[in-house]
Amino acid sequence: MESYNSFRVARQQIQEAAKILNLDEATIELLIHPQREYNFTMHVRMDDGKVKIFQGYRIQYNYARGPAKGGIRFHKDETVDTIRALACWMTWKTAVLDLPLGGGKGGVCFDPKRMSEHELERISRAYIRAIAPLIGADQDVPAPDVYTNPQTMAWMMDEYETIINRHQPGVLTDKPTQIGGTEGRRDATARGGVITVREACKQLNIDPTGKFAIQGFGNAGQRAALLHEELLGGGKLIAVSDSRAAIYNAEGFDAKELVMHKLKTGSVKGFPGAKEIPHENLLELDVEVLYPAALENAISSSNADKIKAKILCELANGPTTPEADIILSKNGVHVIPDILASAGGVTVSYFEMVQDKYSFFWEEDVVHKTLDQKLTQAYKTVHEAQKEKNVHPRLAAMVVGVARVAEACKLRGWV
Ligand code: NAD
Repeated sequence: MESYNSFRVARQQIQEAAKILNLDEATIELLIHPQREYNFTMHVRMDDGKVKIFQGYRIQYNYARGPAKGGIRFHKDETVDTIRALACWMTWKTAVLDLPLGGGKGGVCFDPKRMSEHELERISRAYIRAIAPLIGADQDVPAPDVYTNPQTMAWMMDEYETIINRHQPGVLTDKPTQIGGTEGRRDATARGGVITVREACKQLNIDPTGKFAIQGFGNAGQRAALLHEELLGGGKLIAVSDSRAAIYNAEGFDAKELVMHKLKTGSVKGFPGAKEIPHENLLELDVEVLYPAALENAISSSNADKIKAKILCELANGPTTPEADIILSKNGVHVIPDILASAGGVTVSYFEMVQDKYSFFWEEDVVHKTLDQKLTQAYKTVHEAQKEKNVHPRLAAMVVGVARVAEACKLRGWV
């Protein structure tokens, strides 16, 4: 469970980067606050005929570099501060990748697992009716996040287009390909992460075909399992976990069979030939690469000292606490921070916005190649900043992102 206020952590990270960049007071003040917050209630009729009231948010954290960009979460534990933190991180993520976008995030607080498909559709449409005046292809472009998906985006785009009475597929990304989505989005986050691992292995002279482990075998984790071997020419997946079990096999798992098993049974539990281990042991295995791909704050001061991985590739948002960062850095664990490692998804979302504007769509290999170029360049830029400023990789990535946003604010005359 989250024992931190994520927005406090996010602000602390800005302050640290601002100190290194020697930013003036007004710029810091601007960057530690969201530019726009929209906080509202929605009334939705449930299947039983009763009306239920939902709390919704849309936050445009900073739009100096372009339209705000970030997902919409349907989750019962969401608060205004979790949404602020996620919107804030999106601002640095898009800047680190040098995309012409700002950062945003939205959410509705409820448990989607307790809703029918029809109720989910009505909630999705009500959410878009509430935020319609604030969004648009050149204004703020939402996407899916936890418990929302391409179908949610299809309903939302349809509702928006009904309101404005014309087509505007670029108002949202990660749509189904039949209605303006892009090829290559499904595995984009994991692909981006594995590309950064490839670059880190080159830089640190680490064998990319060594052992690796994955915490969280959902969307990002499963794709990383498949792509790690494909893009790095090998690698032995010795442990994976999901919320129900953590499993281990010293000989390595067949990633494809494991994905099939998860699809069939809903969990990695019970996979033939696997030994079940305590969840926390997975993070402490002696591996070349560890991918946290589940929750926030999985690596904290209580377990950071036990991490033996050479590379920690953060596919999850915010899996490492600030205290853990210091311990990992001291112990020589190379962290590829979330605002770089998990930026493949938003990068391909940006490609979708470009294609929607042109109304002309790219082949999948063009998406993969362009994503590779973007991530490789971003990795190099962060690595240069790390050397130049002599800081740990997360701070280096923050320095790159914050500097770019601060510069845009200054050029616009905001500060
Ligand atoms: P998901 O819901 O598909 O997968 C999450 C997985 O984590 C599930 O298999 C769940 O069982 C597992 N899990 C939950 N608690 C766990 C625990 N205590 N131990 C081990 N496993 C546990 O979500 P996802 O889309 O794969 O996202 C995972 C993370 O990556 C999130 O932090 C998300 O914000 C981040 N992320 C995802 C994307 C994307 O495009 N999917 C993009 C950027 C960042």
